[in-house]
Amino acid sequence: MGVQIDKVIEIYVPDETITRRMSGRRVCLDCGATYHTEFKPPRQEGVCDACGKELVIRKDDEPATVLGRLKTYHEQTEPLKDYYGKQGKLRTVEGQEKLEETTKLTLAALKA
Ligand SMILES: [Zn+2]
Repeated sequence: MGVQIDKVIEIYVPDETITRRMSGRRVCLDCGATYHTEFKPPRQEGVCDACGKELVIRKDDEPATVLGRLKTYHEQTEPLKDYYGKQGKLRTVEGQEKLEETTKLTLAALKA
């Protein structure tokens, strides 16, 4: 596409951690608010704090879907790590629990 790629950032999170994070996600179909059973639970289980409606698991977050997406990633996307690694362009950042921490590490990796 005519774009010069200087660096490629891999945000690494182990499969088990991804599965744990995704499987706890809950969303309110009515107002779109998002929760997590472990990291950001609603005051009452299964009920939206904002509007009182029922929380559901999105199809994308169902275990079978998550496992399927991880499989696709390992088969189709992960090989690019070798490709860019051999060109010296790959930087790996360990994905942190807190978004701000991952952002900080990512910005540092872009400068490295
Ligand atoms: Zn809601």
